[in-house]
Amino acid sequence: MNQLKSKEALRAIPPINTILESEILADCAQEHGREALLRTVKLVLEDYKKSVIEDEDFCLKQGIFSEEGVLDYIIGRILDEIGKDERRGLGRVINATGIVLHTNLGRAPLPQKAAKAVVEVATGYSNLEYDLETGKRGDRHTYAESLIKELTGAESALVVNNNAAAIFLCINTLAPEREVIVSRGQQVEIGGSFRIPDLISGSGAKMVEIGTTNKTHLKDYEKAISPDTRILLKVHTSNYKVTGFTESVALETLVGLGQKRGLIVALDLGSGSLIDLSLMGLPYEPTVQDSIRKGADLVTFSGDKLLGGPQAGIIAGRKALIDLIKANPLTRMVRPCKMTFSALTEVLKIYLNETAPMAQIPVLKMMAMTAEELSDKAEQLARLIETSCGSRLKVDIVPELDEVGGGSLPGVMLPGKAVALMPQSIGVSEFREKLRKCSTPIVGRIHQGVFLLNVRTIDETDYPVIVSALCDILGEVR
Ligand SMILES: *Cc1c(COP(=O)(O)O)cnc(C)c1O
Repeated sequence: MNQLKSKEALRAIPPINTILESEILADCAQEHGREALLRTVKLVLEDYKKSVIEDEDFCLKQGIFSEEGVLDYIIGRILDEIGKDERRGLGRVINATGIVLHTNLGRAPLPQKAAKAVVEVATGYSNLEYDLETGKRGDRHTYAESLIKELTGAESALVVNNNAAAIFLCINTLAPEREVIVSRGQQVEIGGSFRIPDLISGSGAKMVEIGTTNKTHLKDYEKAISPDTRILLKVHTSNYKVTGFTESVALETLVGLGQKRGLIVALDLGSGSLIDLSLMGLPYEPTVQDSIRKGADLVTFSGDKLLGGPQAGIIAGRKALIDLIKANPLTRMVRPCKMTFSALTEVLKIYLNETAPMAQIPVLKMMAMTAEELSDKAEQLARLIETSCGSRLKVDIVPELDEVGGGSLPGVMLPGKAVALMPQSIGVSEFREKLRKCSTPIVGRIHQGVFLLNVRTIDETDYPVIVSALCDILGEVR
């Protein structure tokens, strides 16, 4: 075969119209828009020109030996690139990891009802800050606040953008240039750049560390209290466990000390469940209402962890304190938008009004799945895959350990089920990459040489999407 040198390789570039009219790209124009296609074609041609000019052997290396070869190569690149363009924004993915609250995959999926409310509020006008009773200006916080009060028994509540902001505001408002006492066993790092010590110093307070990593006693708190102390902060170690020879001071005991010494007792609950998880056979997690009942002055928690709602940070507690936080000018900087409020209030209404919130809140539903349900789900998916592309890969059902994730219930493994796939014609890493680059990306793990689809976090309505992606991928490999 002849080698195409730079000159021939340049001459072989087809006119843009020939490319645009090629049959393979017809669907592409439909799906992505003509402008996007044109932009991609130009980009790919520029790239191709540059490559062949810079490298005499480019065509040889790419296996291009003829004019048709050039066209095929260019079209292949266009299909690749335009897919990338599609993936450039934020989009839906299929979570096949079995991790229910996957922070990288957007934490809690919303209940349908909440998602519907968001669409309505987002695409039209709403009573966000308009009081329909009086016809006067209203407050965006009222609706969520009244629901949280009712659900948790707190005197007052405030919703901000996330739990990190909630903790920051509590400390910034109530202990500027004063001391916040925290146990060394609770110096939590959540991930990314979120660390309790940095948050406290960033909010303008001085952190006083007490105790040791494994043990902190009441007398450690007592000894550390000075005239400058304002807050006793307890951080629920929601994403790790200190086990073995350990001791921490119970919330009730800390509340007693706070009352005796006139100090605020704040609890960063992290995941913040509103229902007793032991009812579904999971370890007990302190609920928000329990913490309020035990006398915490302020409790902060996330909206998108165990609560199963949108990203938000919720502060529940004493009215006098929350009024001060509301008056902090920084609070305005972290106020949520109408979409957050509409999703959150819908989720809270499910907790308030439904006898079985578990059935409606996806996070809880996934956590509560029984062994039987999981086996059924796995068998159903495995059968569909077998039927449509069973000849091109090996399909198995294996036991797996799922996780709650998102810094909730550390160390708790949920017995799960996965469909294990072993493609015959390509390597498993390449297989995983192709799945990740599908039009609806499928994100899963490789374990011991097979690709796993943990069914707990996959909705049955996505099964056909998975099957068609598998057929596409395995059909295209030679
Ligand atoms: C997750 C978590 C946070 C951070 O919450 P965001 O809503 O992600 O800001 C803070 N503290 C604890 C203990 C957590 O588990």
